[in-house]
Amino acid sequence: MAGSGKFFVGGNWKCNGTKDSISKLVSDLNSATLESDIVVAPPFVYIDQVKNSLSDRIEISAQNSWTGKGGFYWRNQVGASVVFVSVFCNFYSRIRGVEQLKDLGCKWVILGHSERRHIIGENDQPDQVLSSAVHWEEGCVCLKRGVGVIACIGELLEEREAGKTFDVCFQQMKAYAGKFAFSLVDAVPSWDNIVIAYEPVWAIGTGKVATPAQAQEVHVAIRDWLSKNVSAEVASKTRIIYGGSVNGGNCAELAKQEDIDGFLVGGASLKGPEFATIINSVT
Ligand code: PGA
Repeated sequence: MAGSGKFFVGGNWKCNGTKDSISKLVSDLNSATLESDIVVAPPFVYIDQVKNSLSDRIEISAQNSWTGKGGFYWRNQVGASVVFVSVFCNFYSRIRGVEQLKDLGCKWVILGHSERRHIIGENDQPDQVLSSAVHWEEGCVCLKRGVGVIACIGELLEEREAGKTFDVCFQQMKAYAGKFAFSLVDAVPSWDNIVIAYEPVWAIGTGKVATPAQAQEVHVAIRDWLSKNVSAEVASKTRIIYGGSVNGGNCAELAKQEDIDGFLVGGASLKGPEFATIINSVT
């Protein structure tokens, strides 16, 4: 069973690019004939440039967002208003983060990316400074303001080797879905604004892509989890996209898998023609 809606392809440009190279990438994308729902996440400092030059056909995403309501996560720094752009190109504005992103034209945010979980150190302990609770809470804040969420999940290599892939993914789903359900009660946005990105950590930026069968197996399990824990309707509608070393050569086989509803692409999204091939890979 595939999620309904168009194939969804996100390009996560991370901290790559200069004004010139981004201008070239934008012009490649503007001149390509593209299928699918498409989102690009430029480095924060270039969002404005991209928004002002990219075809409206392609939506803009932020690579992260943090409104930090209540100062829960940074207890010692409550009240400070600091914006910084980190080496992982994550936008932190503790005050009015989502409003600023909307003001820049962002329709989406990527939350819970593995580089935040495993390099920056966001984790599953809500009482720690950098907690993955950030993702759940921030997801609610974004959804309530009409900004869609690309919610990332995925296991480490050692977790896969220990047979824990499903446990890890379900735990991460539980964290998101519980909060999203809570958020949706009073805000009434729909799960149409949530895309789940399954990105096995061992496949991100490594050139080691999951096989189509490995990816399909996890996507089916996530959809099944949604059906049992959220609703059959949400399971049938929600797009579950794959990320991790997707490129122009492997995208077609992955796209053929029934439960792969799109891709989140890092490195290969920096090359316009290759990214266009990936975007158009669904037949
Ligand atoms: P990659 O990155 O395509 O370069 O592996 C994917 C991601 O980080 O979302």
